[in-house]
Amino acid sequence: MRTFEFHRPENAALAVSAAARARTAQQGADIRFVAGGTTLIDLMKLEVETPDRLLDINRLPLDKIEDLPNGGLKIGATVRNSDLAHHTKVQKDYAVLSQAILSGASAQLRNLATTAGNLLQRTRCMYFRDTAMPCNKREPGTGCPAITGSNRMLAILGTSESCIATNPSDMCVAMSALEATIHVQGPRGTREIAFGDFHLLPGDTPHRETVLEPGDLITHVILPPPRTGSRQVYLKLRDRSSYEFALASAAVVIEIADGKVTYARVALGGVGSKPWRSHEAEAVLTGRPADPATFRNAADAALRDAKAQSENGFKIELARRCLIHALQTAAKG
Ligand code: SF4
Repeated sequence: MRTFEFHRPENAALAVSAAARARTAQQGADIRFVAGGTTLIDLMKLEVETPDRLLDINRLPLDKIEDLPNGGLKIGATVRNSDLAHHTKVQKDYAVLSQAILSGASAQLRNLATTAGNLLQRTRCMYFRDTAMPCNKREPGTGCPAITGSNRMLAILGTSESCIATNPSDMCVAMSALEATIHVQGPRGTREIAFGDFHLLPGDTPHRETVLEPGDLITHVILPPPRTGSRQVYLKLRDRSSYEFALASAAVVIEIADGKVTYARVALGGVGSKPWRSHEAEAVLTGRPADPATFRNAADAALRDAKAQSENGFKIELARRCLIHALQTAAKG
């Protein structure tokens, strides 16, 4: 059994300074913030994660959803996924986010999992979760057995020679399409990060998944003011109808006037090494007729750079059809 320290800091500043102090005193010790623990505790049981110290942030005042003066929404880091999905304003103005969250995990997990934890969900790649196997993400430089092994569930966009793991989050796909910003308090102060800049491509450092630095604490997420009249859809395709990760998913936020698409935000899930915003699809959609031909062209553009592995070539067509269907559903209102 591995031992670790457990602390409950009183406020965000103390949490950040405690993490920084511990790291310095213990020469680079692995310090983690924990809230719902639905990923971290699982991975600790598997000994995939072996932190020296956990800082429990459940008592920090980060559990509120607040209206902003500009019409946007501030979502605290420890807001539970269930509370966010069922929030009245989220259901009305950010429906794609509510749909995405409710398509993920189980009711029990959503009751415990938090906003910040969902942002930091780790891959479900089976080799990553098995310490008997090599894995560049878990142990840099050991190799990637998934490339020649079991890769049916893994990514077709944003992969590298070092890692082809998929980001598993549904919530993040919707937040990408909604252009959320992530707010962080760290040892050097506070900063905000555009959603598209938060997750990193694997490249040759797949163990680095986000731009967070040691000691950085996610405090909240901001959603911009809602697009009045936008049509929003999250469509998720998977092997079974609940409690399953996406093979392919699509989040779309579009506006249509006089039969033409006037605004489009598109993101894909289940296929990318990070939540996959498709600027290519958005460019094809904007200004074009809201019809099947445009939607097919947008989906083609979104998947143009997809690279299949030995077992997941079906995902290219699946993701393409998923996006077309999501756009058609949104266009119908
Ligand atoms: Fe590890 Fe990534 Fe390869 Fe999976 S795909 S075995 S997470 S390096």
